[in-house]
Amino acid sequence: MRTGFTGVRHRSPGGIVDQLSQKTGWIEVICGSMFSGKSEELIRRIRRARIARQKVQVFKPAIDRRDSEEHIVSHDDRRIPSEPVCSAKEILARTDPDTHVVGIDEAQFFNLGLVGVCERLADEGKRVIVAGLDQDYRGQPFEPIPQLLAIAEVITKTMAVCMVCGKPANKSQRLVKGDQRVMLGSEGTYEPRCRHCFEPPE
Ligand code: ZN
Repeated sequence: MRTGFTGVRHRSPGGIVDQLSQKTGWIEVICGSMFSGKSEELIRRIRRARIARQKVQVFKPAIDRRDSEEHIVSHDDRRIPSEPVCSAKEILARTDPDTHVVGIDEAQFFNLGLVGVCERLADEGKRVIVAGLDQDYRGQPFEPIPQLLAIAEVITKTMAVCMVCGKPANKSQRLVKGDQRVMLGSEGTYEPRCRHCFEPPE
């Protein structure tokens, strides 16, 4: 039975502790535009889990070669060890049975298979923390983040600062030409913009 709340069993005096009630798995999504602090927030949560002596594994797509191969690095240069993987399925294969927390960065570079992988890990009792872009350069929902938002227990939307007007921003303005959905880059390639200053491409 895939049900969450079974706490009643605890209250019966001398009752057997229900194994189901020991399960703690869930999905957290951290999403927003470029430069909104997604990786910083993921790193913060991973660090706290480590302090609590939980076993943590962090994965990132092998496509993301902007920074160090074996770390996820935030724009303020905080870093944490990570394992590059070529597919969502590889995350499943490489997650150890005794891992408590699974972190996944740059989730927009995985396909929709990531949704089933996160569900399975959470069903197995793991805390899954996924960070990624929620919109592409046209301001459209960026799979698989919309699907993950629908099934997640906890959602955090991070906001950047609009480079035009200084208000909170949740869009990534592409500053160079190109109609590929995936175009790597950071400073100079994109800048955060608010809804009103964002100029969607033709
Ligand atoms: Zn603005």
